[in-house]
Amino acid sequence: MNSQNWIGGEWGTPNGGSHPVYNPSQMTEVVGTVFHSSTSDVRQVDQAARTALKAWTATSLPVRGEYLYTMARVLEEHATEVATLSSREMGKPISEMAGEVIRGVKLLRYYAGEGVRTNGSVIPHSQDHVLQYSTRIPLGVVALITPWNFPVAIPVWKIAPALICGNTVIWKPSEMAALTATLLTSLFAQAGLPAGVLNLLVGEGANVGKLLVSTAAVDGISFTGSTKTGMAIAAVAAERNVKYQVEMGGKNAAVVLDDADLSLSVPAILSGAFRSAGQKCTATSRLIVQADILDPFIAALREGMQEISMGDARDSATYLGPVASAAQYAKVQRYAEMAQTEEMVSQDINVTVDPAQGYFVAPHVIMGVDVESPLVQEEIFGPIATILPAADLDDAIALCNQTVYGLSASVFTRDISRGFRFLEEADAGMVRINQETAGVEYQAPFGGMKHSSSHSREQGTSALEFYSQTKTCAVYFGS
Ligand code: NAD
Repeated sequence: MNSQNWIGGEWGTPNGGSHPVYNPSQMTEVVGTVFHSSTSDVRQVDQAARTALKAWTATSLPVRGEYLYTMARVLEEHATEVATLSSREMGKPISEMAGEVIRGVKLLRYYAGEGVRTNGSVIPHSQDHVLQYSTRIPLGVVALITPWNFPVAIPVWKIAPALICGNTVIWKPSEMAALTATLLTSLFAQAGLPAGVLNLLVGEGANVGKLLVSTAAVDGISFTGSTKTGMAIAAVAAERNVKYQVEMGGKNAAVVLDDADLSLSVPAILSGAFRSAGQKCTATSRLIVQADILDPFIAALREGMQEISMGDARDSATYLGPVASAAQYAKVQRYAEMAQTEEMVSQDINVTVDPAQGYFVAPHVIMGVDVESPLVQEEIFGPIATILPAADLDDAIALCNQTVYGLSASVFTRDISRGFRFLEEADAGMVRINQETAGVEYQAPFGGMKHSSSHSREQGTSALEFYSQTKTCAVYFGS
């Protein structure tokens, strides 16, 4: 399969260069070719989305909702095909990928329902015989820039609310998930969306993404990706006075207090740290453990790790697959080498694949690491987690907050008072008791604090706030 652009309802292959995609589980398998866009494609897509805007904005909300219901149905019908391609393209284990596609279906249905829900409010006016109300109107043309690690869910949690709010969309997916993006767009095209309402622009972030942000006549930018890129995009958007949200990295902590149920916390921590090979913005990468239960915690963790099976992403029994690409492998390997100099807690897992055939990185749990170490402070985005002992709850909260990031954090305890104190004091946008740090609910707001976000939120009704602006209207109807 090869990538294509979909601009103004037409498919085309851009000519700004290309790269082959190798299956991260089996590097000798070529999955397809990604073709990059160039400046002329950016101009063309800008025009196409602008041309389609007026009619789409004028389309009634219930009718827009019907398009989304159809997109959900078509995606559900092709769920296995999409999950399989994604697994081959970026190495997420098929069992997780299948769940992600179904999440995409649910997101589409959730936002389709917004087509018949309240779209504003009636507000009293100081004068008699005046009806005053507020209503949401679209931003206009929005640019959606997405990462590779959730190649279906993240695009859909941007595209669906953007469309239901009446915006037209230019979607620039990650160049590392562009085959999935092409398939997804071809399915959405089957829903019969009017030409130019949804456009796909494939290309490299540093070229096409940058051009889109800095030159295209867009009215909104929603970005998910690394903090470095997000901060740069935010600066350009602010300069241009374009509404933006940038959702970025994390360095998430799971705190295990001395009364925690280890049979509950250890599986949740392993899942948060190692599913998707640790390549989730909400992945658990710091395990802050109350010192007096360190020994039983480590014993339980070692036992739990023996259940982990590292294998080919296409195998439904695989828990831990490869990392996504050669670039990811090189980056994670750098940290893995750094981790080798630390005290290794365990790497005793079940391996069902020849690790040399793909971008496989064995999971690492290490301890004795200085809290200022890059292993503790930098987002690794791989299967490497660090144990940090804490004297008590105060110390654990202080360690949890000792990071520039603030995306998600969990505490494991049976004590509801200590649990609630953690929820109040942990500096993270998503805080939990006795649940893993990873995994989000599409109907609830999601976003981070500090350097994890522009302090904006996605999903749930928060997305409707981003993809619209409020108009306050008043009508004098007296004589
Ligand atoms: P990335 O920043 O490298 O790329 C993200 C997207 O931005 C891609 O589409 C890329 O092509 C594009 N891009 C790159 N440079 C650009 C530029 N100068 N201008 C415009 N666009 C540009 O991130 P990634 O490696 O694809 O994704 C991994 C990162 O995403 C991790 O840091 C992870 O924590 C983060 N992430 C955050 C969330 C969240 O909701 N907070 C969710 C998933 C992933």
